[in-house]
Amino acid sequence: MKTIEKNQNLYTKSVQQYVHQVFETVKKRNPNEDEFHQAVKEVFDSLVPVLEKNPQYINQSILERLVEPERIVSFRVPWVDDQGKVQVNRGFRVQYNSAIGPYKGGLRFHPSVNASIIKFLGFEQTFKNSLTGQPIGGGKGGADFDPKGKSDGEIMRFCQSFMSELSKYIGPDTDVPAGDIGVGSKEIGFMFGQYKKMRGGYEAGVLTGKGLGYGGSLTRKEATGYGTVYFVEEMLKDQGESFKGSTVVVSGSGNVSIYAMEKAAELGAKVVACSDSNGYIYDQNGINLETVKRIKEVEKQRISAYVSEHPDAIYTENCSGIWTVPCDIALPCATQNEINQISAQMLVSNGVKAVGEGANMPSTLDAVETFLENNVLFAPAKAANAGGVAVSALEMAQNSARLSWTFEEVDCKLQSIMKNIYQNSKQAAQEYGVPGNLVVGANIAGFVKVADAMIEQGVI
Ligand code: GLU
Repeated sequence: MKTIEKNQNLYTKSVQQYVHQVFETVKKRNPNEDEFHQAVKEVFDSLVPVLEKNPQYINQSILERLVEPERIVSFRVPWVDDQGKVQVNRGFRVQYNSAIGPYKGGLRFHPSVNASIIKFLGFEQTFKNSLTGQPIGGGKGGADFDPKGKSDGEIMRFCQSFMSELSKYIGPDTDVPAGDIGVGSKEIGFMFGQYKKMRGGYEAGVLTGKGLGYGGSLTRKEATGYGTVYFVEEMLKDQGESFKGSTVVVSGSGNVSIYAMEKAAELGAKVVACSDSNGYIYDQNGINLETVKRIKEVEKQRISAYVSEHPDAIYTENCSGIWTVPCDIALPCATQNEINQISAQMLVSNGVKAVGEGANMPSTLDAVETFLENNVLFAPAKAANAGGVAVSALEMAQNSARLSWTFEEVDCKLQSIMKNIYQNSKQAAQEYGVPGNLVVGANIAGFVKVADAMIEQGVI
């Protein structure tokens, strides 16, 4: 018995060393890509117990293969602004992993976009998509274009130029982009139009998040935010708790944030704060969603405009200050690394009970550790925000069948997908000896399906 235990300890140590070694190579081969390193580190740390039980993943070099995207393209996006001046942006598409289906994942238009951001997002997307249980591989793309302050004409010309190049690499059975930060149904519309013109055929399933009149799915707009709340509600239910009667803080005021607020309020929570990249609003009476929707979706104003209509509300400059607002449940729905260790500590000191990540990788590694150490219920992004891409896959299914489902049908499927993701993540955490740790559980559950498919398909 003693010898077996000793051997097991030695083996654990050598697996840890192996994982460490692969990670060091990732850092060396991808210098200055901090976000990519961070995403890889989190997954690798979770996988040690799986690798111990399944040496085939080591023998088949699955980790080494997973940290290398299948393909990444970077391209020039020239366009003419309203002054007649030529502008040039850089476009990307990472076709990360196609083991379980065509590449699938959004496009992000934001000045911060670079190879590191796109690779971290593609890496995360691969496991997230696997968790949904649907046949979709991982991809991501975007450009360092800033849609803020651009006219509709400028946005259209940019989207057309971007798609002129991207269209060479995508297709309904190859790679299916969608939206992300800075890309909503307007941008998807312009890109779909250009793709259709270039192809000379109507391939509805090439993009998701389309307008409802030409192949879009009901509930897609709401799906990421609603899905995050469904996931967190499931996690709370397990502890005999719920959104009902709780105070909630939701960062951001984009698509994910707005519909997370809507669903949380529908389940009986009081949402008291939200933000944009300039600052945050606090409304003790509960945020008025109709005002936020009008300000952000119709008028395209900054969130500070809210306080002129709601005199009890307070606007504060500096968006990270939102984490000083006391709450029971925090839903970071803005962007990567928006909660650092200091903000996490602040949330814990103020008594936060649960955190649900609606954005991609919104918590730094030490922030996640702080939540877990302090027994905060923690719903990691890959699992909690998978509802958006899950409904995208349902949009693809409707496009293939040439029909459209009702809002209730899609919403019902979304709820059951989120419940399944929760159960599978919880079960994997239990099976591998870290009950309740959904970070590890989600990473493992997402990984195993992709890794097994890769092995079955040979070294390609
Ligand atoms: N950008 C979203 C995500 O991070 C959705 C992607 C999609 O619908 O393909 O999952």
